[in-house]
Amino acid sequence: MIHLFIAMTSLIGISVPTQRSLITTDIDFSRPGFQSGTLRVPYSHNRSAYGHIPIPIAVLNAGAGPTVLLTGGNHGDEFEGPVALMKLAQRMPEMTISGRLIVIPALNFPAFLAGTRTSPIDRANLNRVFPGTRNGSVTEMIAHYVDTELFPLVDLIFDLHAGGASFNHLPTVLAALPADPRQQDQYKTLVDAFGAPHTMIMDLLGEDRTYGAAVARQGKLFFCGEFGGFGSCNPDGLLIVEQGLARFLHAAGLTKEVDAPAAVATRLIRVEGARHYLFAPRHGIFEHSVKLGEIVQAGQVAGRLFDPHAPWTAPLTLHFQSSGCVVCLRSFAGVEPGDCIALLASETNWS
Ligand SMILES: [Zn+2]
Repeated sequence: MIHLFIAMTSLIGISVPTQRSLITTDIDFSRPGFQSGTLRVPYSHNRSAYGHIPIPIAVLNAGAGPTVLLTGGNHGDEFEGPVALMKLAQRMPEMTISGRLIVIPALNFPAFLAGTRTSPIDRANLNRVFPGTRNGSVTEMIAHYVDTELFPLVDLIFDLHAGGASFNHLPTVLAALPADPRQQDQYKTLVDAFGAPHTMIMDLLGEDRTYGAAVARQGKLFFCGEFGGFGSCNPDGLLIVEQGLARFLHAAGLTKEVDAPAAVATRLIRVEGARHYLFAPRHGIFEHSVKLGEIVQAGQVAGRLFDPHAPWTAPLTLHFQSSGCVVCLRSFAGVEPGDCIALLASETNWS
């Protein structure tokens, strides 16, 4: 059966029929109780002509309350979030909640299975293709499904990340205060409840193809975070995710009990434009001079860039343009021009 819904387009002022996503699911989001199943992404290729990619999904629906969507594996080389969500999915059948909990441990499932940031199928970065495309590549189809089918169902979203293979990141919630003042107090309460050691107001230098930007366009509350790096599952980061989510779900009104210690005060920091980024100006081998979490001053040496083709020449010394806390460091020593080597953030407040 072909499903159609009508999307109003303000550009031309008339109703235009828009076809629904080609991704289907055996989950009935309105059915009470626990369900586990898959999102089926059609994928016809040499090895499987009528095949699909089955993305695991778990749903618990229990009466009145908020709908919360928890996702991991947006990038396939980040594992604290997916492991926490797989453990949560195992507990879901026995959980008592008021509302609806939707858990997708590995949203870009092909990338997750490959352990790579981008999909091995289309090389796409899920977090740079929103709002996606119905008839696009596999990754674009996933984004389109999430944007058109899941976001409209939910009130709160937490997308769990880490630095991936190329970065190590301080355990940090990434916060973006909603534009609507009526949502801001609840947003701050939920950030405090999660209780990550740091909460960072990110600056992606104008990037608007992200999952978070797509959620913001729909006026839903979006939370995100980075909880490790090196393409590993950091046990400290995993504990922060698990305990933070327990407090977050309770503060959201979904659960009555919290199986986690009280939150510690989070330290609010902010990335302030390009001056907080350090990029490689040329090819080479980079030696860091600072450690993650270190407070640095403008002009301080960030590290040295060696030329592997002329090892007898003096390395190029790179300096930080700005003061701040080192929140993210590149893990690969080899760099190309334009690679991000380090990211800083400064103490701030919400205003
Ligand atoms: Zn990520």
